[in-house]
Amino acid sequence: MLDEAVDLLQKMIRNKCVNPPGGEMRNILTVSEYLDKYDVPYEVFEPTPERGNLFAEITGSGGRPSLMFGPSHVDVVPVNDENKWVVPPFEGVVRDGCVWGRGALDMLYFVAAQAVVFANLHCEGFQPRGTLKLLIVADEESAGTVGAKWMVNNYPDKVQVDYLITEQGGEPIEKDKMAYWIGEKGIAWTRITFRGEEQHGSAPYKSNNAVVKMAEAIKRLTEYQPPRDTQFIKPLIERLNISSLMKKLATSTSTLPRLLDRLSNDNMGMARFLHALSQMTISPNIANGGTKVNVIPSEARIDVDIRLLPGQDEKYAHTQIRKALGNLAHEAEIDIVPAEEGGDTHPGTSSDAETPLVDTMREVAKELKGSHIELVPMLSTGATDARFFRDAFGTQAYGFAISDDAFDLQTIQSLFHGDNERVSIGQIEMTLKAYHAIATRFLS
Ligand SMILES: [Zn+2]
Repeated sequence: MLDEAVDLLQKMIRNKCVNPPGGEMRNILTVSEYLDKYDVPYEVFEPTPERGNLFAEITGSGGRPSLMFGPSHVDVVPVNDENKWVVPPFEGVVRDGCVWGRGALDMLYFVAAQAVVFANLHCEGFQPRGTLKLLIVADEESAGTVGAKWMVNNYPDKVQVDYLITEQGGEPIEKDKMAYWIGEKGIAWTRITFRGEEQHGSAPYKSNNAVVKMAEAIKRLTEYQPPRDTQFIKPLIERLNISSLMKKLATSTSTLPRLLDRLSNDNMGMARFLHALSQMTISPNIANGGTKVNVIPSEARIDVDIRLLPGQDEKYAHTQIRKALGNLAHEAEIDIVPAEEGGDTHPGTSSDAETPLVDTMREVAKELKGSHIELVPMLSTGATDARFFRDAFGTQAYGFAISDDAFDLQTIQSLFHGDNERVSIGQIEMTLKAYHAIATRFLS
């Protein structure tokens, strides 16, 4: 299985399905050629030319829940500066025990592992009680419009599933503690527009200047503290190897700021992560206003990156924005950023931290890495395709893989969408074994 997975991964890296524009059919074709070798039946969907998805299924006889490998995306993000790479990013080079290339980690090695395990189970004549599905998709790095979202909207009967395993997972949180991902924050990208009165810039006394209002709004948004909520960081904090005092500080909303402040001195990454997982975050990231240096502007606007905890929605976000703006709120036009300008809005989603599938994942992780290994449920600050399935079908969706500890958490984080992205061959091997064991046990 390992040689096949590495070969498949290298081919997919070389196909260079950078989104935009994607061109994911190149990778879909590579996977389908691989499946053809084993006579695995599958279907390919091409919602728009050169961009598509692949679906396959081993139908169960009944009496067990269904499980999906995927949605696994075959698109990758662009490379900013090839010169910063030790090896060329689209050649799938094997070096120092790793496969290097854009997408190696996010998430082509998952695609390779899932396709290979699926094909092997098919060859072994696997006859599960629960149905096993495989879904490989385009367009995760954008909005999933022709990928996972499209499959959920157009073929719900095919892709509906009780449980699924997708990207992320296995990251060493600290010694002997491995992450699995149970949910993710939502998005409410918001545009706030202020109006003023156009007038000559040479005589600004008591002018109605839209840029001045915008500047004040940015200040207020930055200083505003939305309500805190510790429920999503509790499971993580409880399992971390920190003093009981630190743990206590972390689990109460009133003392959490003190912990974050302390933490920011020596572990800024963890401080930012815990902060983001304990509240809606507001980051005003684009400001636009004015047309000419001698004209007092009649319009100014800011685009704000707002991230929501599961349970919060756009309405909640905009109520908070109004609170933050105070007496400026009645002058602010609050809208979502239009989709054609890259806007996106969706609520956060989360699955149960403990389910029968998690029990199987834990059992398998301990067998592969030792009984001292503990799984830690994590919520992601970014978005994955898992959200469409939690939303539409209430699927218990997890990010899960097993790392061989070749990299620490910080390195892994820097490799996502970063320079010199790579995955260790040990991690591919562990993950193959884990997926095979999980499918056979969980579905039999
Ligand atoms: Zn990804």
